[in-house]
Amino acid sequence: MEILNRRTVLKAAAATGVMSLLAPGLTHAAETAGTELFTADEAGLLVDSTVILGETEAVVIDAQFTTENATALADLIAATGRSVQTILITHYHPDHILGLPILLDRFPGARAVAHKDVQGQLAQTVEPIWQRIAGGAPAGMFADRFVIPEALEDDHLLLDGNRIDVLGPMHGDTDLITPLYIAALDTLITSDVAYIDTHLWMEENTTAERIALWRSSIDTLEALGAKTIIPGHRKAGSVGGTAVFDASRAYLTRWEKALAETTSAESLKAALLDGAQDLGFASAVDRSVAAIYPK
Ligand SMILES: [Zn+2]
Repeated sequence: MEILNRRTVLKAAAATGVMSLLAPGLTHAAETAGTELFTADEAGLLVDSTVILGETEAVVIDAQFTTENATALADLIAATGRSVQTILITHYHPDHILGLPILLDRFPGARAVAHKDVQGQLAQTVEPIWQRIAGGAPAGMFADRFVIPEALEDDHLLLDGNRIDVLGPMHGDTDLITPLYIAALDTLITSDVAYIDTHLWMEENTTAERIALWRSSIDTLEALGAKTIIPGHRKAGSVGGTAVFDASRAYLTRWEKALAETTSAESLKAALLDGAQDLGFASAVDRSVAAIYPK
């Protein structure tokens, strides 16, 4: 048994009508062999979830943020006809995990996991974050409960006998992120070590040392030389690929330059937005600025 090739997947997608299931504003691209990709809308912070397709089973990477996006992801998964074996959460940020109960309601046989270090952080953070975010949001916007994944002790998952390597944890927009590498597909899922065509979440990268760590992780992932690259966030319709690395480096440079050249919240925000009107995820900018100039 093998992870399916692109042609088979596209045929299967056409047969099951995957393309027609998505709500307006949500994007779907079968741009990669053996995977289905779901990108959230702006309310869902443009986060990517990847569905890795085996012959009969699937592994899902990251669980979305809002109910609407997690439901659309669940619809996409259901349309593949695969049974969900595992849902892996790459890091503790809420846009990657708060939708998990929605997925587990739809796929109750699935096991939710995270690398043991990430799991330790999730065990401390998911409940207070869920309370703060869901408690302040309109009813139904977020799941009515939270789920803490189990600790994954292995450094990989298996799908139909194929390895999905869990890399790291390494530093990206936060300290503990596990990108994934699927050798059979030569596909790298960077999670939030790389984004494309969006602002980056800089709240946890306010020092030169941490920014340098992030650059080092980008170098590490790029050196894998994977053919297909799926970033953590993307603007609707943007294509991943190796460009995600330079796009992320360029934003880190934009951030460093803006920090060096500005002396107030207003000027920092203006510098981050200057010439960046085409970037998605502009909602990240206020949080990045507030990390430097707390209100
Ligand atoms: Zn994220």
